[in-house]
Amino acid sequence: MKKLRVGILGATGMVGQRFITLLENHPWFELVLVAASPFSRGKTYQEAVVDRWKMSSLIPKNVKNLIIMSVEEDMKNITNEVDFVFSALDLDKEKIREIENSYAARGIPVVSNNSAHRWTEDVPMIMPEVNYHHLKLIDIQRENRGWIKGFIAVKPNCSIQSYVSILSALKEFKPLKVTITSLQAISGAGKTFESWPEMIDNVIPFIKNEEEKSEKEPLKIWGRIKNGRVELTETPQISATCIRVPVTDGHMASVSVLFETIPTKEQILQCLKDYDNPLKDLCLPSSPAEFIKYYEEDDRPQTKLDRDYENGMGITMGRLRKDSIYHWKFIALSHNTIRGAAGGAILLAELLKAKGYL
Ligand code: NAP
Repeated sequence: MKKLRVGILGATGMVGQRFITLLENHPWFELVLVAASPFSRGKTYQEAVVDRWKMSSLIPKNVKNLIIMSVEEDMKNITNEVDFVFSALDLDKEKIREIENSYAARGIPVVSNNSAHRWTEDVPMIMPEVNYHHLKLIDIQRENRGWIKGFIAVKPNCSIQSYVSILSALKEFKPLKVTITSLQAISGAGKTFESWPEMIDNVIPFIKNEEEKSEKEPLKIWGRIKNGRVELTETPQISATCIRVPVTDGHMASVSVLFETIPTKEQILQCLKDYDNPLKDLCLPSSPAEFIKYYEEDDRPQTKLDRDYENGMGITMGRLRKDSIYHWKFIALSHNTIRGAAGGAILLAELLKAKGYL
């Protein structure tokens, strides 16, 4: 199979770097182009990230000497050289919408990590294992905008990955109310302990806009398409508290749930085991063999031990116990820059390829 040529917009940042490591030797996609701000333009990739490469592996050989292009100034050249792009930009949301629209209008599919288009009515926000049927919004989007090849598809916020997956597995019991407290890693802010020393030995009880995203985005994921847009689901109601903790990678969540029909512990564990993963027959390269793993040990999951489960693409869960106000509570964990960002976007692109959109 001929590999698709892909470029990364925002290739020098934390998520961009994660894309680069995950795309090394990808069987379907070949990274041919890196783009960032005018500040990085014209440098080799290695020069541009010399003092800010944050991954534990080395910069892949085929990327080191790629010359960085400017996302905006070189748009025409970029669109001539790639089949699609991943967007990992961090700048003003209005500007990101404008940039992503321009690429799509030029016939280049955009698979985005950014929140800029998550609430655009005809843009699907996809967690592949949960709502891949929302891909049909792409047909509506193309029709609305007169685009033939290009489109925009986005993935949701890193903070919601673990509990949305688990609650999706439990949907037959109808979760009505959910409270979550997330304990989020510093890489979620694009930072390391070197670049954010204030986080050493510290907890910060505020992450800008994160609670709104954590409460609202699941309602679009679980919504249904009606009249050319996603009608949000009314339940469950979600209340979120998002806290930054001194951890490099991995977002943990403490979750309490009130159900319409109260399941037993055995029923919950059985549902997780039996989760009907719609990707199972598609053989997508980044799809985890086991989507959700439950630990019986009281002290699991742990960020350091479990964030890399299934190469960072799996969800781990533990401490399922009765809640004295709601019905059940548990701990959930996902890797924020893999499942929650670059890995999730790559899985989405693989799904788009398997379904004929790329
Ligand atoms: P980051 O480390 O700050 O990287 C930002 C990237 O955007 C850099 O490549 C930067 O290029 C580029 N950029 C900045 N201004 C630009 C401009 N005017 N024109 C073109 N490129 C420009 O941010 P990040 O943590 O990787 O996050 C990227 C996006 O992913 C954000 O929207 C974030 O919300 C989202 N996200 C992050 C995570 C996570 O866990 N970190 C998870 C989910 C989603 P230069 O190096 O040239 O400045």
